[in-house]
Amino acid sequence: MTAQDSAHASSDLDLLKHYLSVREEHCPSCSYNLHNLTNDSCPECGEPLKLQVALQTPKLAAFITGLIALSISAGFPILFAAMALIAFTANGYYPRKMLYFFSGLVLLSLLNSSFTFVWCRFKATLIRRTSRFRWPVAIISWLLCPITMFIAYIILELFE
Ligand SMILES: [Zn+2]
Repeated sequence: MTAQDSAHASSDLDLLKHYLSVREEHCPSCSYNLHNLTNDSCPECGEPLKLQVALQTPKLAAFITGLIALSISAGFPILFAAMALIAFTANGYYPRKMLYFFSGLVLLSLLNSSFTFVWCRFKATLIRRTSRFRWPVAIISWLLCPITMFIAYIILELFE
């Protein structure tokens, strides 16, 4: 840590302490009242704290919209496989290539889960972009739902 870094760290702590000497704020982790805090961690839960600038309205709507679409796409193949298993069991009929059928659906679910993972990794990048970029991308992500349903149907037809 350079002398400048340590000067910044001590001034950050001074700002945090000053802020909490004039405000009644609660720990974001455990809700403990932090008024007159003396160091940079919560006395109740021990979580480190920092003073930061945040947006008044976090631009999360497009991110959440896309996250819902991708989560549905990741979960649907597993739900479809479970429903098919119930239907097969009820009818006493099993597709000849049952293992391929279920493997295909699990792979489809894993593929879509990886899209969900990537979406979460790029959350900060997405939020920084303009709404002209965020919303079309979020809306396009919903296309994965019908595509996934179509692929699940193809897998069912293929291995029946
Ligand atoms: Zn706490």
